[in-house]
Amino acid sequence: MRVYLGLGSNIGDRESNLLDAIERLGREVEIELISSPYDTEPVGYDHQPRFLNAVVGGDTGLSPDDLLKLVKKIEDDMGRATTFVNGPRLIDIDILLCGDIVLDSEFLTVPHARYAERAFVLVPLAQIAPNVVCPLRHKSVRVLLNDLKDPGQIIRKDWARSQHV
Ligand code: AMP
Repeated sequence: MRVYLGLGSNIGDRESNLLDAIERLGREVEIELISSPYDTEPVGYDHQPRFLNAVVGGDTGLSPDDLLKLVKKIEDDMGRATTFVNGPRLIDIDILLCGDIVLDSEFLTVPHARYAERAFVLVPLAQIAPNVVCPLRHKSVRVLLNDLKDPGQIIRKDWARSQHV
């Protein structure tokens, strides 16, 4: 199944944190696409450092529930400080899309509940997968991005360290 995950960090060496998480994801997900990193303003709670965000795409045999377990384990293993909703974090990993699956359980909502409102997700996702269609909204990522009223300030950067996919 083709999956897309969004990553964000705004504590410490943000790029290293993203790359560390991508490397850990790569043990269970065959990562095929990695966006550029994007420097973005915090959403929801302003009094915190800017985030570095990226999106990856790959194939996995994991079910959505098992993918969520993996994501939580990586966040825990990397020592994500539990702060508060929308607060600063070493690493945050969101499951954006899992093939054409649409599900809404107590623990997991796929497609991710808010990804289509967030420029810091849609801009990197549109870089690597503009034609992927949201199975809930029946719109491509490119159209979802065009629909955004106020994308805010999303600054594309280059990875300082080389990527091996
Ligand atoms: P957050 O604080 O944003 O990392 O939210 C984490 C919680 O959101 C997790 O404990 C998940 O159970 C829940 N969740 C629901 N849907 C998703 C999703 N698509 N990706 C990641 N976490 C999700």
